[in-house]
Amino acid sequence: MTHRSNRHSGEGGKSLGVWLALTALMICAAFVFKVDSRNDTPPMQVKSPLPTRPVKKVKSVESPPVDLSVSPLIRVNVTPGGSDSLNLEIRGPYSIRLVGSSKELSKGTELKTVKVQSTATGLKLGKSTFSTTRLEIVPGKSPAVRINDHLYRGTVRLFRRTDGQVSAVNVLPLEEYLASVVDSEMPAAFPPAARQAQAIVSRTYALYQMAHADPAAVFDLYSSQRSQKYLGVEYTDSGRRLAGESESSRKAVADTRGVVCAHRGQLFSTYYSATCGGQTTTGTEIFPDAAPVIKSVPCDWCRDSEYFRWTAQVERRDFLKKTQPTGSLSTLTSIQQTAGPGGGVISRFRLTDGKKSADVTGVQLRDQLALRSPHFTLTMQKDQIHAAGRGHGHGVGLCQWGARGQAQAGKTAYEIVRHYYPGAELVVIDY
Ligand SMILES: [Zn+2]
Repeated sequence: MTHRSNRHSGEGGKSLGVWLALTALMICAAFVFKVDSRNDTPPMQVKSPLPTRPVKKVKSVESPPVDLSVSPLIRVNVTPGGSDSLNLEIRGPYSIRLVGSSKELSKGTELKTVKVQSTATGLKLGKSTFSTTRLEIVPGKSPAVRINDHLYRGTVRLFRRTDGQVSAVNVLPLEEYLASVVDSEMPAAFPPAARQAQAIVSRTYALYQMAHADPAAVFDLYSSQRSQKYLGVEYTDSGRRLAGESESSRKAVADTRGVVCAHRGQLFSTYYSATCGGQTTTGTEIFPDAAPVIKSVPCDWCRDSEYFRWTAQVERRDFLKKTQPTGSLSTLTSIQQTAGPGGGVISRFRLTDGKKSADVTGVQLRDQLALRSPHFTLTMQKDQIHAAGRGHGHGVGLCQWGARGQAQAGKTAYEIVRHYYPGAELVVIDY
């Protein structure tokens, strides 16, 4: 549940440029319509200039069905590291087209699992070869396309990368994507208001990434924690078939349909993490591009998390080996804490060997020593170095366990989101 910004480049996709311009307009237009801060009354809706499918007329206003497929398309790289080959299965009729074209290159009634590999000039699906580097699998129904161990809604684009590897990009409506993100990122046992807050924050994060993707990129974000976790409709883990979305996650998304966070009329990257450990981290401590609205706020709401407080031991002889920036030190004679933990800043340390010293940050040590967070103290003991820390993840923005605690105390999703991004406006986009 930790998140990092992602920037990527790849092959071009033209339609996005138009979409971006529209999104910018949409966000500016949306800015003036704030969600009521006091309760859960339906927010005002903003007509979006986005191309939309006709919305179905609803007879009853009591429990209007929400069609999650009516929303802009997002492109998710579901093979974040690239791969020499991947498995493709299509459950039902399909056609194979060039990306961005309606021209059919091939079609069939179903496709049993085949290997997708690159060739010198294009792509190979089982025994069929295509002399193009980008194909789109368009199924007759959704969900029907399986890539490796995951079943996805929407279509899947296959790319031959310049390094010869293959990538798969799932293209689907944003709100359908979010239904899986909510379950992928947050336990089903968390209260509805916490999961609604997750939906709002994940929607904002996704739209921000869509609006800031390189115009030449072929995807908007990754399906891993590098962006936010997205498992698809269903997946297989250790031979077990598991659901990647649920009635409850679809409801959390439908209940907050189109609601996003904005600051001064702009979307911002709504970073979030699992457990802040008592106080969230000032955004710019971790992410240089963090919006000013991501301030440090107190949060004891996450105290039920098993990582609210944690300890770890590192063998003293391994410490310098594992921490590269201090490799110039011959031994370790003292550790001085120069910042943190807590107070919205990450921990910082000065290490010395009696002659020289080296400054290191909690972020560096967290990566190098596989610690839970960048917020901890270090104590030298005889053969070991003892770390005592707080929180799980970087601690920036919404605290997922804190959202759970606040929801249990009766806070609404809007109140929860506002707590972690103080000064942010909640606006609703009507797509
Ligand atoms: Zn917290």
